[in-house]
Amino acid sequence: MTDRDDNFDRYVRQMRYAPLGERGQRKLAQSRALLCGCGALGSVLATTLARAGVGFLRIVDRDFLELNNLQRQVLYDEQDVAAGLPKAIAAAAKLRRINSQIEIEPVVADIDHTNLVELARDVNVLVDGTDNFETRFLLNDLAVKHDVPWVYGGCIGAEGQTMTILPHDTPCLTCLVQEAPPPGTTPTCDTAGILAPVVNVIASLQAIEVLKILSGNRQAVSRQLTVVELWENRIRQIKLNKLRDQVDCRTCDRGEYPWLEGRLGSQTAVLCGRNAVQLSRPERYETSLDALAETLAGVGPVERNQYLLRLSVDSYVVTVFADGRAIISGTDDPATARTVYAKYVGT
Ligand SMILES: [Zn+2]
Repeated sequence: MTDRDDNFDRYVRQMRYAPLGERGQRKLAQSRALLCGCGALGSVLATTLARAGVGFLRIVDRDFLELNNLQRQVLYDEQDVAAGLPKAIAAAAKLRRINSQIEIEPVVADIDHTNLVELARDVNVLVDGTDNFETRFLLNDLAVKHDVPWVYGGCIGAEGQTMTILPHDTPCLTCLVQEAPPPGTTPTCDTAGILAPVVNVIASLQAIEVLKILSGNRQAVSRQLTVVELWENRIRQIKLNKLRDQVDCRTCDRGEYPWLEGRLGSQTAVLCGRNAVQLSRPERYETSLDALAETLAGVGPVERNQYLLRLSVDSYVVTVFADGRAIISGTDDPATARTVYAKYVGT
């Protein structure tokens, strides 16, 4: 017995489940996962995968915590909100208290075509904890091009859906939905709200798929799109096995990756449920938060910690991160957000 075997004591109930077993547990311990987004779905995914003993979790999230997150983002508490922490940082601290045997790497960043290849360079699976289709199509491009499985999940209101993509085996996201819906045409957490139980259901369905993939049990992966509507008590499973033959898929069949190449995708993002807009630029640059704090001192109240700076002005709150990104709270209009940003931070 090695030390590592002794450390498996904590997983004994999970290893007792025969299809996983000690063999599967060893594979989990050697596995690496990229969790994209650590909000509502990501909270459940992160805690489940950490407790299950997935050896390495890279958690990428662009956002910081607010009080209205706590209704559904079960990894966080009021202290995290009071500290004004980025979600990735708060998540990592919590997860390290849950399982100190695994490695957690928090990354405070917005996933886009300029950084996803690097973020996914050494992982065995991509896990969707995002809230938007742009990022999901980007993940899908990366997954199919580099042959990395990914697990899609999304929720709105009391409804959610999930699907697992094993590239060149199961249908991909583009097979299912040929184009991303135009901005403003689909309901968001802002317009339709979101109930926590549906998040927990979908994230749990995603998590078991990740455990199947990482423990060497791909044959057990779901080949269906699962849709649940918990208020109306409907659960549907839609078979996808013929879909790859039925569509001429840009991604799977033609090998085109416009999202990954930056030919699709915008530089502003309306943040789901937040009345806020994020601004980012293709070229990354470091912002001196110290210098900016000085500049803004006369404009309005400025708060800061080592990761971000926050200015309250008029009815807006402008949060600037060290990598130059900004989140403008108080508007869901990208143009207004650009104006506020240009006025106080500069372009
Ligand atoms: Zn496809």
